[in-house]
Amino acid sequence: MTSQEQYCLTEDITRKCPECDADVSLSRGTRDAEIVTCPDCSFEMEVVFDPSTLNLGEVAKRVRKGESPYDVSKLDLTVSPTLVPAPQEDEDWGE
Ligand SMILES: [Zn+2]
Repeated sequence: MTSQEQYCLTEDITRKCPECDADVSLSRGTRDAEIVTCPDCSFEMEVVFDPSTLNLGEVAKRVRKGESPYDVSKLDLTVSPTLVPAPQEDEDWGE
């Protein structure tokens, strides 16, 4: 374990393809920065866990229970991943 915890899906979820709006399923265990491909249009997307999407209601509930809202090991339950277009790999012959 490093100090930099990686977000990881704890359940199967579905997100929309930003290109064609098709359902893209993300299975449990999908990690931050993982590349997924749209089943419909083959568009490549990167899974981004954005802490700004943190479910505030959930955080408030934890505070009331006396738990730390910033416990990173539990954040993956409330941080909702978004799909962004995968960075295009330029044909970089130089390096
Ligand atoms: Zn698509």
